[in-house]
Amino acid sequence: MNNDLIHLLPDSVANQIAAGEVIQRPASVVKELIENSVDAGATKIHLFLTDSGRTNIQVIDDGKGMSETDARMSFERHATSKISDPSDLFALHTFGFRGEALASIAAVAQVELRTRRHEDELGTVLHIAGSRVEKQEPDMCAPGTNFQVKNLFFNVPARRKFLKSNQTELSNILTEVERIALVNPEIEFVVKNNEVELMHLQRSGIRQRIQQMFGKKVGQELLPIEVETTIITIKGYVGVPESARKKGAHTFFFINGRYMRHPYFHKAVMEAYSQLIPPTEQIPYFLYLTTDPTRIDVNIHPTKTEIKFEDEQAIWQILMASVRETLGRSHATPSIDFDLADCPDIPVHLSSTAAPQLPKPTVDNTYNPFAEHKPSYNRPSENWEQLFKRNLQMPQALPPDEDSLDNIPQCETTIPPLFNHSEEPSQPSFGDCCQCNGRYIITTFKGQLMIIDQHRAHVRVLHDQYIHQLQNQRSASQGLLFPEMLQLSVTQSVVLEELLDDFTALGFDLSNLGGGSYSIQGIPAGIEGLNPTDLVRSMLDNAIERGSVLKEDVHGALALAMARSAAIVVGQVLSPEEMHTLVNDLLGSSAPAYTPDGKKVYHLIDEMALNNLLG
Ligand code: ADP
Ligand code: MG
Repeated sequence: MNNDLIHLLPDSVANQIAAGEVIQRPASVVKELIENSVDAGATKIHLFLTDSGRTNIQVIDDGKGMSETDARMSFERHATSKISDPSDLFALHTFGFRGEALASIAAVAQVELRTRRHEDELGTVLHIAGSRVEKQEPDMCAPGTNFQVKNLFFNVPARRKFLKSNQTELSNILTEVERIALVNPEIEFVVKNNEVELMHLQRSGIRQRIQQMFGKKVGQELLPIEVETTIITIKGYVGVPESARKKGAHTFFFINGRYMRHPYFHKAVMEAYSQLIPPTEQIPYFLYLTTDPTRIDVNIHPTKTEIKFEDEQAIWQILMASVRETLGRSHATPSIDFDLADCPDIPVHLSSTAAPQLPKPTVDNTYNPFAEHKPSYNRPSENWEQLFKRNLQMPQALPPDEDSLDNIPQCETTIPPLFNHSEEPSQPSFGDCCQCNGRYIITTFKGQLMIIDQHRAHVRVLHDQYIHQLQNQRSASQGLLFPEMLQLSVTQSVVLEELLDDFTALGFDLSNLGGGSYSIQGIPAGIEGLNPTDLVRSMLDNAIERGSVLKEDVHGALALAMARSAAIVVGQVLSPEEMHTLVNDLLGSSAPAYTPDGKKVYHLIDEMALNNLLG
């Protein structure tokens, strides 16, 4: 009898394990297949999906195709035509190099490959499922390659179960396509899901491609940048300061033709805008870096998008300086010899982003669920942009917080009155309230000193209120006299369509005008001072960031985005009654101690701690 315990895993099992690394969801298949098509020199790539890729993913290209043998070989692990010796690893010019993708896909799906080289009369078709080749025969296919990946994870039920909703998988797929399409504007891309065309990008230049993908407005607000140094070449576009926004700016770095994430370089770009936009806002950028491949290390995990650079600090400096120079050239920023007499002063750029004062239509107050028998706070008088301007003028303000809008000293703002949680007012378990620095409410609670952050407390209370509204589908909309236009990216519109009912439940009145354009005709009552387009965008981006459409998650994201925007800010003077109501509502909320995003709302100091403090 053989007592040896160790044996080699059959290839099919080894491949399945390896596949777990590379293929996590339909979007990973799409990424690998499209990258292969790009590597194969395609000028046209069509992606057809069924059920957001769960049932079927088909990628058709007009690239160079494969021979009969290569078609078979391409599914072997570590089979690649792209590198052959270790030194190649340090000089990569293609997306793929590991020769793992196709083997991994074939291990966890049913794959049909049709391919023909342009010089061949006949192509080949190959069926493979769970790493087993089922058949291969000659085929009359068009030149190029046609991959069909069916029933992903058909043999790994545990993985299949973990796929997210169709909308989430689709938005992940579109994100991957976006990243590839932005670097390859000379390639035509068509994307369809269940026969519906989601994207049709014609061959063009970079700027037109950006415009095709993200709308005319984004395209028009870009400044070109082009710098060549010995260690790096930087080309692309950065947004004008007016294009800044709080969330969801399109920020893309590419290195030698591939997308990368680079938080450190991101800071360099933001640094260039430091005096021009609020610190919590971001501008869009599309920056294409080129460097000698030996100076970077891409030989990292296949699904990671981070890349290591040899000259990181030097590149940081070059990046920052060149963005600054671009801004300077476009008169977006002052420079030392800037002739002030001839040019408008800088804040013009900031104030020009201010939305026109919204009209205030008269509404039936009994229709407003926010106004349930609670004292209202100070009435609105300014919009957020103006508040920010004030903040700029008072740089000595308050200690910094993650949210710069928090730092606004003594001003009136728009805030909705608090929501009435309980029908019978509960007996207060806290003492009298006083306000400190326009930021904290100080009171006593069960014999302890309680210091409450007023903004965070209000975020908690409003969040609960909005969640409640979403669950009960209560809508209280306030019509806008002048509907606002909203231009969304494909991903954003897909998500919005999915969430339309929730937006309506919150009180938004949105109409789809086609082509990613929407008009906002109504907004939830009680948030009149906020910029509706920014709000909807940031709510969508929040939902996208969550990467999930579990109802509770989305409700949470929507409610949080709205609560953050609508909550009272630091600097808002509160009357004793208002403080009392806020603290009362906070203590009656679902989780008074923390904001929905985990920030501490209050701090308690007990008597012993006080004794210790005072010695
Ligand atoms: P890698 O891209 O890392 O080389 P893959 O498993 O993705 O590994 O692909 C294996 C090989 O199959 C590639 O090196 C290439 O030669 C071939 N191949 C894959 N897709 C295509 C395609 N669309 N057109 C032509 N050849 C392809
Ligand atoms: Mg590949």
